[in-house]
Amino acid sequence: MCQPDSVPTSDCTTPICVLGLGLIGGSVLRAAVAAGRRAWGYNRSPRVVDDAVGDGFDASTDLVAALRRAESERALVVVAVPMPAVDTVLSAIAEHAPNTTVTDVVSIKAEVAAAVAAHGLSGRFVGGHPMAGTAESGWSAGTADLFRDAVWVVAVDDGTNPDAWLQVADLALDCGAVVVPAESREHDAAVARISHLPHILAEALALSGAAGGDLALGLAAGSFRDGTRVAGTAPALVDAMCEGNGPALLTALDETLDVLNAAREQLAAGSTRELTRAGHEARRRYEQRQRHPIEGVVPGDDGWLTKMRDAGRRGEVWTR
Ligand code: NAD
Repeated sequence: MCQPDSVPTSDCTTPICVLGLGLIGGSVLRAAVAAGRRAWGYNRSPRVVDDAVGDGFDASTDLVAALRRAESERALVVVAVPMPAVDTVLSAIAEHAPNTTVTDVVSIKAEVAAAVAAHGLSGRFVGGHPMAGTAESGWSAGTADLFRDAVWVVAVDDGTNPDAWLQVADLALDCGAVVVPAESREHDAAVARISHLPHILAEALALSGAAGGDLALGLAAGSFRDGTRVAGTAPALVDAMCEGNGPALLTALDETLDVLNAAREQLAAGSTRELTRAGHEARRRYEQRQRHPIEGVVPGDDGWLTKMRDAGRRGEVWTR
């Protein structure tokens, strides 16, 4: 729940206006309301709005009205649409909510930051990315606790306004997440490895299983199910993530192809030892990671962005 005294310069009572009530936006709306925030949402589809209203939430198909209300109530606007729709939404924000603080949940950050700059909104924008989700889409797939104990990246790009940063971090904390600060390009390079590459590998693995025919698919159990889970995501969402992060994903993919080619050579020579020992050790490093809190950094103080980036690189988290 929101604790206004815990961070002196933050304002936990800031209302939330969510644009796009799919899996992520719908979950943000639910979580914000559960945390005691005043919150409302916009979705272009009347069916989704009817479902959200039927579930007791304040939702509308009227983007202009949602943004004018955000402007008058000094809300934090959350852009929760896929990358191809971001430009349209930013245009509407620039026109109808010119003074609100804005964040987003899009899975890539540098392209969003560039679009925000093109609309002249950088001064009051702080990028975000909740590292949570499922292979499902839409309002009905959302839950209030989707972000519980998840990591939520809050961008610390040059020029970030510290009060806006705290508003966005507070929303993430209210949603039950912990915050990892990262510069947008570093975020994109990191998620290429741990999110976008897994999508590519999952699609390839699913194809390999299907190529084995009904017998192979009939025998498939845990490792195939887990390894292909994200191939169940709507293809258009995967395209938006992967294509939008092309250069970083190509680097990660090239490195992985090198690993696979080396493994192939080793297997042809009769051994998988090198790959399995190195992979096992890498997995153990992931399992043993710890979340240490960020200490001694105050948003707005001299050098706070650099200190936040360093803390994020060490895997430290901003909590209450
Ligand atoms: P979703 O398909 O469940 O919801 C997308 C929402 O965007 C819907 O409300 C849809 O109506 C709206 N939308 C799509 N095109 C639009 C347009 N042209 N104009 C207005 N609204 C439009 O998708 P999601 O999983 O909630 O993804 C939303 C954002 O969250 C994406 O940018 C995605 O990268 C990001 N994200 C997704 C996940 C995940 O695991 N699914 C995790 C973190 C972040």
